Amino acid sequence: MSDQKRGIIKHIHKLISKKEISCMELTKKYLDEIDKSLLNAYITVCEEDALEQAKKIDEKVGAGEEIDILAGVPMTLKDVISTAGIETTCASKMLMGYKPIYDATAWKTLKDKGAVLLGKTNMDEFAMGSSCENSCIGGSKNPHNTDYVTGGSSGGGAAAVAGNIAAYALGSDTGGSVRQPASFCGIVGLKPTYGSVSRYGLIAYGSGFDQIGVLAQTAEDASIIFDSIAGYDPMDSTSSPKYTPNSYESLSGDIKGLKMGIPKEYYDGVDEEVRKLIEEAMKVYESMGVKIEYFSLPEVKYTLPVYYILVCAEAASNLARFDGVRYGHRTEHYKDVNEMMCKTRSEGFGAEVKRRILLGNYVLSSGYYDAYYKKAQNIRKLITSAFYKAFREYDVLLTPTSPVTAFPMNKNYGSPQEVYLADICTVPVNTVGIPGISVPCGFDSKGLPVGMQILGDRFSESKILNVAHRYEIETQYENNKCVDMGVRL
Ligand code: GLN
Repeated sequence: MSDQKRGIIKHIHKLISKKEISCMELTKKYLDEIDKSLLNAYITVCEEDALEQAKKIDEKVGAGEEIDILAGVPMTLKDVISTAGIETTCASKMLMGYKPIYDATAWKTLKDKGAVLLGKTNMDEFAMGSSCENSCIGGSKNPHNTDYVTGGSSGGGAAAVAGNIAAYALGSDTGGSVRQPASFCGIVGLKPTYGSVSRYGLIAYGSGFDQIGVLAQTAEDASIIFDSIAGYDPMDSTSSPKYTPNSYESLSGDIKGLKMGIPKEYYDGVDEEVRKLIEEAMKVYESMGVKIEYFSLPEVKYTLPVYYILVCAEAASNLARFDGVRYGHRTEHYKDVNEMMCKTRSEGFGAEVKRRILLGNYVLSSGYYDAYYKKAQNIRKLITSAFYKAFREYDVLLTPTSPVTAFPMNKNYGSPQEVYLADICTVPVNTVGIPGISVPCGFDSKGLPVGMQILGDRFSESKILNVAHRYEIETQYENNKCVDMGVRL
């Protein structure tokens, strides 16, 4: 492409606006492929709404009206993002049948631009997990090899984008849930700065960590979507009032002379094949004039316990609202209100969610609060200062997204603690509130995708998207290979 930007969004926009395909035809193609798909990516398919929106877009194009770049582009939302009148389950028995009465701001923004919502995608229950297998409908399958997991928790969205049954997806990232499945499925996953995208309507897991993020085929696509959904929202008191995103404009910027820090601690215990591919990527950056320097960020090793203490505390508090009184599931037989709540919660929540509620209430209980919760908050501050210091030295940091590639499906890969350990490379970003992007950088000997992670200072999305984009161009998008399973354009 002449301007070296590439992605499926611009391509679809061109096809629709030049009337080479009608939005109706395109939407039907996607719906047909979803119907045939074996990826278990969707919890709900919104056929009627999607076709109705497609019709509206075709009418606009027919009338010669200009349409937004996202108008008519078929996409998905993780089932933790509220959609008015459309079931939003968080992949939990607790919320089966729950239809929100309002739209999340990020979705409302896209809907107003003409986005076509194909459906709501699969996830780990209440976004707690790293494989998508903690879902009440079972895990999604990795399009690169269906015997492997997609990663999680936004696994359905990652499978849908990588398997071409959605052009892009919105997910949520509390500790890696956009970046890790993006890395396992060979696509791009952007976790924006805390406060840059409204959380209004995102069902809360850890409110001080949660952020809506983007799953896309390329950095260019991610930047188009990010620019559309980022910005101040009075409905979210943590949304930043002074931010105007223009990352798409920055995509052509040269990165010669950029300083890239490699925090050594991120590479401890990382699979050899993953490490080698990231070292290859470093060479690509060096050939573009980027200065690479290893340095030590020892605070990072405290992030995992800090994250799990704080996020479980927030989860215990956030999930207290699911009591059978106002939302979703209510047990059938009970004597009094106490028994009703107790049985409802016991039946409605899965094992991992219960584990985290117990852990969270434990660290918040009197006698343990100072020893765990308060201490973790203090260490969070130390970790944050260490990252801010690193960004005074380096423009961006480069790390693995995950120490390993996708795990085999339906295997018990150890104790909960062992599964938590696999989040080591993604949780620091949320603990500090900075943005991070996972970019495909090759395949291991099993043919499974490997992702690298580019981190930047707060509100530096334009920079990290451009650094990702330059790598994609330099490697001719060799690693951004979606699987030939869905719609071909
Ligand atoms: N795997 C992490 C957890 O279970 C991250 C999940 C997420 O980002 N929602 O907490």
